[in-house]
Amino acid sequence: MSVLFLAHAEPDGSLAKPALEALAAAVPLAGSLGAPLVAGLVGATVNAAATEIGSCGASRVLGVSGAEFVESRYATDAAAAEALCRAADAQIVIAAGTARWMRVLAGVAQRLGGRVDTHVTRVAARDGAVSIARWYYRQRIEGTVSRAERPWIIAVEPGTEEPWTGKATSVAVEPVAVGLPPLRTRVKAVRQPASGEQTIRPDAELLLVAGAGWTKKQPDGQIHVKEAEGLILGFLRATRASLGGSKSLVDLSGEGQAVLPFMTHLNQIGQTGASPRHRKGLATCCHGEEPHVVGWRFITERRAVNLNPNCGWAQGKADVLYVADAFQVLAKVKELLDAGR
Ligand SMILES: Cc1cc2nc3c(=O)[nH]c(=O)nc-3n(C[C@H](O)[C@H](O)[C@H](O)COP(=O)(O)OP(=O)(O)OC[C@H]3O[C@@H](n4cnc5c(N)ncnc54)[C@H](O)[C@@H]3O)c2cc1C
Repeated sequence: MSVLFLAHAEPDGSLAKPALEALAAAVPLAGSLGAPLVAGLVGATVNAAATEIGSCGASRVLGVSGAEFVESRYATDAAAAEALCRAADAQIVIAAGTARWMRVLAGVAQRLGGRVDTHVTRVAARDGAVSIARWYYRQRIEGTVSRAERPWIIAVEPGTEEPWTGKATSVAVEPVAVGLPPLRTRVKAVRQPASGEQTIRPDAELLLVAGAGWTKKQPDGQIHVKEAEGLILGFLRATRASLGGSKSLVDLSGEGQAVLPFMTHLNQIGQTGASPRHRKGLATCCHGEEPHVVGWRFITERRAVNLNPNCGWAQGKADVLYVADAFQVLAKVKELLDAGR
């Protein structure tokens, strides 16, 4: 009976930040339960990943490796995770809530006769009882859950833990054999969204949010979408910030109006969008209505630039509201950033 830390290696053999965050949750959990910590790794090869976390205190390091496990694919990932859970005799399984694991973990729990919880923001153990915290109703209510069923698979939400750090130490990896079904899915190529430029950066310190105001008539009676595009992209390139959008802005492209071509629905923040975890947020030309601002739940420092002193941000939703023209503000910020270089 163990606590299993389940991780997939990246194409370069390393473990990504979300995996190290999940490990940061697994190590103290195993300690408080007095249960052995087992690491279960999946990838083309797993030795580099095993070395990376070699000093985490795992009593065993299990590995599923081979060419079939390089890419994310339901059949192979589910089989690998199931085999590792069984080999570890896992009671609690801690994995990162990556897109790759989120596709398979519920199925793995079903195969094991266990349970699964996703988007978990905290894992704790008290007197041998494990509990998790997660948010409900689009991040409006936080709940605490515990379960009697085992194995219990817990997918830790990326960005909620400080990543585990420790000395790289070489360790022996016990290979785990996996019986694979006939594979019907082959990965032929990876296609990126055609937005031209990568604007979503979950690890960025700052989130810049663009609202529909950027595409609306400005005080001179004209729209200035090309200028808006240059200012927003210039700011992103200079600061490496991540780009979010309001629903109104990302919806415009579907309505045949003037649009910022690099904004897609993937950028949308809010009730029907994402709730990212950047430390700082700057909203520009966005009104700050509740269905948008609910997506800012995890943004600690909030500022907004809006021409309207009565916009939603002024109603206690931002720490600082600059009543100003965002075109002028971003141009000035860019000038200062360039001068600082
Ligand atoms: C069920 C439901 C779910 C929803 N989910 C979401 C969601 O997930 N995300 C979301 O964003 N919205 C969501 N909405 C929509 C939300 O209610 C708002 O309609 C939307 O967020 C408004 O977008 P906006 O602030 O960009 O645009 P607008 O309301 O048009 O505001 C534009 C703002 O730009 C300002 N502005 C214009 N020019 C300048 C300038 N030069 N400088 C500075 N400021 C300027 C204006 O003063 C104005 O405040 C949802 C609504 C519903 C009913």
